[in-house]
Amino acid sequence: MIDTHCHLSGDRYDGGLEPVLVAARAAGLSGMVAVSVDVEDARAAQAIAEAEPDVWCTAGVHPSEAGRPHDIEALRALIEHPKCLAWGEMGLDGHWPDPTLAQQRLLFEAQLELVARTDASGGPKLPVIVHSRKAVDAVLAMIDAAGLEGERFVFHCFTEGPDVVSRVLATGASVSFTGVVTYRNAAEVAAASDLVPLDRLMVETDSPYLTPEPHRGAWPNHPANVVHVSHFLAARRGMDPVDFESATDATARRFFNMPQPSTA
Ligand SMILES: [Zn+2]
Repeated sequence: MIDTHCHLSGDRYDGGLEPVLVAARAAGLSGMVAVSVDVEDARAAQAIAEAEPDVWCTAGVHPSEAGRPHDIEALRALIEHPKCLAWGEMGLDGHWPDPTLAQQRLLFEAQLELVARTDASGGPKLPVIVHSRKAVDAVLAMIDAAGLEGERFVFHCFTEGPDVVSRVLATGASVSFTGVVTYRNAAEVAAASDLVPLDRLMVETDSPYLTPEPHRGAWPNHPANVVHVSHFLAARRGMDPVDFESATDATARRFFNMPQPSTA
């Protein structure tokens, strides 16, 4: 199983990262994508990916960081790294008033423009991890305005309902779900998950946040818990958990162009 979105860098884990990785491997995980929230964090995620064969990394700046300046151009070199699988996370979050949506739009637009410019200059054409919360109209309009194909995007930590997921799917994008889908008060998120075809559905933890049921409330969340997200979604579809896992893993490997795990 692959945790397609977790945050592993910095001092997020009191006991260090090693026990977290050991637990993930013991739970059967074959890969983890360490997603960055700013340029420094992208460098730290890259260092982890260099040290750990089953960890990959990304390069992007999260909308919550839009209140301060960033060297967006520095992302261009980071995505050249062989273990960097994606741009992101980037996007818009309409939930909190600060940083303002205007600030977030400037940051997202600069990154979308860099993606398009990198494509045009023959750089790596990587997929893009999008953070979109209560802002889907603006996010979809900005992706369209940047001239980027919807198929290239995954809407991570999807926390909205069937109407919004339908609009996202209509663009060709993929969707990934965290522990939020397992929460009793998130019935509309679970209903949205029913609409996502398996070849566009992925699972993630968004660790250290959003610990899934049956451990909701435990801090920190960690990648081994992706098993609970996967089992919840499999049960909801009436699918064998092993079949569900192999389908969503295949989706993740294809979407992120992730190498098969070595059997050596
Ligand atoms: Zn995240």
